[in-house]
Amino acid sequence: MGDTHFGGLAAWGKAGDGVPRVFRHLALTVAWLLLWRVSALMQYAPHASLWFPPAGLSFAALLVMGWRALPVLTVCALLVTFWVDQMYQAHTPWRDLLLSGVVFAAVHCFSYGAGATLLKRVIRRSASHSVPTIIMTFLAASCLSALGSALLGIKSLELTGMLSRASTSGLWLPWWIGDMAGAQVLTPLFVGLLSWRYPSIEPWLGGLTFQPEPQGRSTYGAKLAVSVSLVTIMVLLAAQSRYPEVAFGMFFLIIPQMWIVYTESPFRSALSLALFSTVTALLVAALGLERQALVYQFAICVIAASAYFGLAVPALIAQNKQLSELALTDGLTKAATRAYFFERAERELLDTRRYGHPLSLLVLDIDRFKQINDGYGHSVGDLALVDLTRAVRGQLRQSDLLGRFGGDEFMVLMPGIDLPHAQAAAGRLRGVLADTLVPGTQHRLSASFGVVCLQDDETIMQAFRRADEALLQAKRDGRGDDGAATA
Ligand code: GH3
Ligand code: MG
Repeated sequence: MGDTHFGGLAAWGKAGDGVPRVFRHLALTVAWLLLWRVSALMQYAPHASLWFPPAGLSFAALLVMGWRALPVLTVCALLVTFWVDQMYQAHTPWRDLLLSGVVFAAVHCFSYGAGATLLKRVIRRSASHSVPTIIMTFLAASCLSALGSALLGIKSLELTGMLSRASTSGLWLPWWIGDMAGAQVLTPLFVGLLSWRYPSIEPWLGGLTFQPEPQGRSTYGAKLAVSVSLVTIMVLLAAQSRYPEVAFGMFFLIIPQMWIVYTESPFRSALSLALFSTVTALLVAALGLERQALVYQFAICVIAASAYFGLAVPALIAQNKQLSELALTDGLTKAATRAYFFERAERELLDTRRYGHPLSLLVLDIDRFKQINDGYGHSVGDLALVDLTRAVRGQLRQSDLLGRFGGDEFMVLMPGIDLPHAQAAAGRLRGVLADTLVPGTQHRLSASFGVVCLQDDETIMQAFRRADEALLQAKRDGRGDDGAATA
């Protein structure tokens, strides 16, 4: 599958945005080889590293560039096959090395390419680009790609005679988890880095922003220092202790990582995970903790997976807030919706009855509002509604609730207020409305009112109907110019 589905991503490799394709491919090759060399430094035994960072870059490159990343990844796989031979002084004939490199490239690209294709398909189909769906598919795809890469990789090493069957037994698990750790920890970071240049990736990041942030660098640095110090202490403790179970203490390090996830940007969280994993891998290699390698690998994967789910939480909270705002407040005036107003009114009624306090309800309807719409247009009418809400709200107490019944009719719930005080409030509102000009005109607002105080055993709806009748009577009596009806 090509990049045609990813509109702007097709720009990768095209000249025109200043960076020639050759240079980009070269940069990717150098980055991949560097990551590979770093992971080789972190090897605690031949072919066994705590994690395999190039897997993250391959997965990110295949996600962003599609199959166009294949030539670069193939060259990298070939080069490292020769490099490994040099490192271990194996002196394998170059034909065998070439064959082994080609097979390794095929296996690596096929495994991560299939995972990237699956992830892109799911993202494209999930219309809402929901963060939890993206994260779950990413974790599953990277897990399966790493498993494919380990099983096929070992098979290919056996078939090309690079490793004997005896030496590969039991290798699949650390290979799998190491690849998975590399892919799960680093892919989001690399995709994030690429999204700086390729804004078209952003829609499928599910609203997560990976833009660099200038503010709060020192606080972030302090958090990283705490996280790295804790990793160091934990690994040193495990190295010193007689009890192998101490290594499981690594799982506690989820706490500083989640702290960073909840207080920093997604990009900084991804960077922190990368640092945490690198320090862990380096320390495990340096202190010779290979017997516990699987514990550390699982700790890296579990912490990374939890952290990425943690990233979804602020996004979900924001989404929920937006949804509840839509349900609770009127889009234009931000007054309470009719449903929310009556729900709150029922609750207030219970409270006021319990304590024997009065509860008043006021309804108001703008006079001759159609004239404003017809004379100045609906957008001016809209502005008048917004201004009216602002003016009314300015006169209300914290405990009052302003709602929009619909059109140009509003209602105010006044807990603890009796009828004379509610009527006085209506008078004040009439005064401020008379001072409010319809925006851009000399037209002054006026409204008619219906004011009631809830009687014993009266329901909110009965009281509302009484207030509405009083309002209609006020309209009949000559509108707000002279009538504040009371029922
Ligand atoms: P009255 O004094 O009898 O209340 O006369 P009126 O012209 O205000 O009549 P009424 O209250 O029945 O009309 C309300 C008008 O408000 C009708 C509708 O076109 C208009 N309207 C309802 N919702 C909106 C809105 O959201 N924006 C605007 N601009 N107009 C609205
Ligand atoms: Mg009206």
